Amino acid sequence: MHDLHQISKRITECEQQYDRKPNSVQLLAVSKKQSCEHITQALAAGQRRFGENYLQEALTKIDTLKNADCEWHFIGPIQSNKTRAIAEHFDWVQSVDNLKIAERLSQQRPTALAPLNICIQVNIDNEPQKSGVTLESLPDLAQAITTLPRLHLRGLMAIPAAQKTFAQQYARFKQLADVYTDLQQHFKLDTLSMGMSNDYPAAIAAGSTMIRIGTALFGERKQ
Ligand SMILES: *Cc1c(COP(=O)(O)O)cnc(C)c1O
Repeated sequence: MHDLHQISKRITECEQQYDRKPNSVQLLAVSKKQSCEHITQALAAGQRRFGENYLQEALTKIDTLKNADCEWHFIGPIQSNKTRAIAEHFDWVQSVDNLKIAERLSQQRPTALAPLNICIQVNIDNEPQKSGVTLESLPDLAQAITTLPRLHLRGLMAIPAAQKTFAQQYARFKQLADVYTDLQQHFKLDTLSMGMSNDYPAAIAAGSTMIRIGTALFGERKQ
């Protein structure tokens, strides 16, 4: 069973505790490796925003739930041979980190659909094994994406390196929040996607507008 009610309550408490506006933090339910039943239960409880990492698994779920009012976010690494299916079936892509992928998504976004919402994934700790653009390359990539006709740049997404304490988590998130605020001087952005099951209170304290929660909501993932 999912814990949607409890997570929603915690989000509200964090908003109050850290001087955030009411309802300024959205919940993305990360449903990768979780069954369609889990998603259906969350839908029944009022959740409609879902995040998926693995394309084949996601396409099956999107097809099964095609009559439900879901908003699908792709949040996993993107190979260039997968961009067409992503552009055709998702509402958001939060893991864009290079221009080639962005150009393909724009070219392949069907004209019958609204422009594809995009977050640029930032590799805030320069971890070699992680996806994401460097802070140095971020402004140029953001600029280039805003010129692509079928994409709508909404903001940034990051998965900082794991930290032990709230203060350490907060420091990483705050650095990204400052980058986001700087970028807002140049671009119209409304989404700062940061915070997962283990660190979302610190992310909310630092200014996150969307937390991405999997295990704390649905329990452990199937292998
Ligand atoms: C899996 C995943 C999450 C959710 O992680 P939990 O720790 O289960 O909350 C969030 N964001 C991304 C990009 C993920 O891949």
